Amino acid sequence: MTGDDTQLRQAQRRLYDLPAEQVSDADLLLVLEARYATEPVPPCRVCGGKLSIQCAGGGQATVHACDGKEEDPEQPGRLRYKPGRSLVDEHYSQSHWTHYQSGDSDVRELITRYRRQSGGDA
Ligand SMILES: [Zn+2]
Repeated sequence: MTGDDTQLRQAQRRLYDLPAEQVSDADLLLVLEARYATEPVPPCRVCGGKLSIQCAGGGQATVHACDGKEEDPEQPGRLRYKPGRSLVDEHYSQSHWTHYQSGDSDVRELITRYRRQSGGDA
């Protein structure tokens, strides 16, 4: 556990224990920053490769997977399956990862601006 985690946990505890008007701006900002942070997309759990978006939108969490495609050197600009890979194979199914915490860059920007305006006190 890092120092930041401890700081965040303490801020979360104060947020739940105190009436809202007694919670400091710094604690509130820490909790909001963690809530709206973007969880990074991990590498494929099967091969360590890059996952690509498979399903997005409609108010649902974005689903990523390792689709096994690569650029076809014989046909530049076109994709082909890597050797041993095929459409919706077992590797694809095992690599599915759902991005539940996609964050909110607008909220993070507002937090940055607020901190700048408050002179770094919060
Ligand atoms: Zn993979």
